[in-house]
Amino acid sequence: MRVSFPNFSNIHVVIKAVARKLGVSEGELVVPPPTTQKTLDLGVKYSPVEACLPFKLTLGNLIEACEMGADTLIQARGTGICRLGYYAKVQEQILSDLGYNARFLTYDVSRNKLVGMFSLMRNLKGANWFRDIPALHFGMSKLFSLDRIDKAVRHTRAVEGERGVANQIYKEAIASIDGAENGREVKRLTRKYVGRLNSVARDPRARPVRIGVTGEIYVVLEPFANMDLEMEMGKLGVQVERTLSLSRWVKYSLFLNPLGIDEWKDVRKAAMPYLKRDVGGDGWESVGEKVFHSREYDGLVHVAPFTCMPEIVAENIMPSTKEDLPVLSLVFDEQMGKQGMITRLEAFVDLLKFRRRSREKHENFSGC
Ligand code: SF4
Repeated sequence: MRVSFPNFSNIHVVIKAVARKLGVSEGELVVPPPTTQKTLDLGVKYSPVEACLPFKLTLGNLIEACEMGADTLIQARGTGICRLGYYAKVQEQILSDLGYNARFLTYDVSRNKLVGMFSLMRNLKGANWFRDIPALHFGMSKLFSLDRIDKAVRHTRAVEGERGVANQIYKEAIASIDGAENGREVKRLTRKYVGRLNSVARDPRARPVRIGVTGEIYVVLEPFANMDLEMEMGKLGVQVERTLSLSRWVKYSLFLNPLGIDEWKDVRKAAMPYLKRDVGGDGWESVGEKVFHSREYDGLVHVAPFTCMPEIVAENIMPSTKEDLPVLSLVFDEQMGKQGMITRLEAFVDLLKFRRRSREKHENFSGC
C-alpha cells in the first residue's frame, strides 16, 4: 500500500505526524509535491470545465501522487448541499479513466467525524486504540501549533520593519514543527516561534488596518488557491483576521459539536435577518461573519471559487445588510491573474485608510 492525499494548507505536516505514529513507513506514505501551476494545469485538463477550483486542484494533487506511485488516496466527502459530496466518486472515475486504479479512502466531513477519523486510521493500519489515540493527539498538537504560529504571522506581517522577516520565520517554523518527534518538542517550538514573531522589529509608523478574510474554507486556507492572499495583504500593512482555521474545525467538529456546542451559533444568529438557512459549504457563515464582525473590522475580504453556489448566495446578500462594513469579493479560478488581485487589494486598503482618516477627523471635530 502507498497512501497519499491532496494538499490543503499545512495538512501534510499533520498527516505525516499521525502516519508516523501509526507505523506507516516512509515508503508507504506518498506526500504529494507542493501545489504548483503544473498541478493546476493537470486538474484543469482532466476536470469537468464547470467544476469548482478545489476540485481541480485536489485532482491535480492526486494525479501527481499517482504518478509517484500512490495506490491508496484519502479524500474528503460530505453530505451537505454542494459539490463536495461528488468529489471522491468523480475523481476516482477520472483517475481510473487515466489508468490509475487507486483505492479511495474517504472521510465524511459532515457527520460522525471522530468515528470517521478512527475508521480511516483502522483502514490504514488496523485498529489499535493504544496506538491510534496518541497518534491522533500528536497530529492535533502539530495542527494547533501551526495555527497559533500562523495567527502570530498574520499580525506581525502588518507591522514588521523589514518586509519578509515574518514569512522567513514562518517557513522555518513549519519545517521545525514538521520534524518534531513528540508533544513536548512541539510545545517548545510553538513558544519559540511565537516569541520570535512577537519580537520582530516593528515599523514605528505602522498603523495597520484590520481586515477579516472569510469565504469558502479551501480557498481561504490554501495559499496556492488564493494566490498568497494573506501574504499580499501583509505587504500592504494589513492585519489579517480570520475565524476559519483547520484547528478550529477539528476542535469543534471532532470533539465539541458532538457535545452540542456549535462554534457558529453566534455567527449564524447574526446572519438570520438576511439568510435563515444553510445554503451549503460556508455560505451561511460568510454572511454571518460580515454582520458579526462589522464593528470589529475595518473591512472584509470575501473569497470564493468560481461557480461555488454557497458563496455566490453569500456574495449577493452581503451588499444589502444594514451593517456598514466594506467588502471586497474575490473569485478565484484558473483564469485569475495575481496582479489583478493585488491591484484590487491596494484600492480596497486605500479606501479603508481613507474611511479611517475621515472617521477620525469627524471624531476630533465632534470632540471640540
Ligand atoms: S463549497 Fe463551493 S467550492 Fe467548496 S465544494 Fe462546495 S461548491 Fe465547491
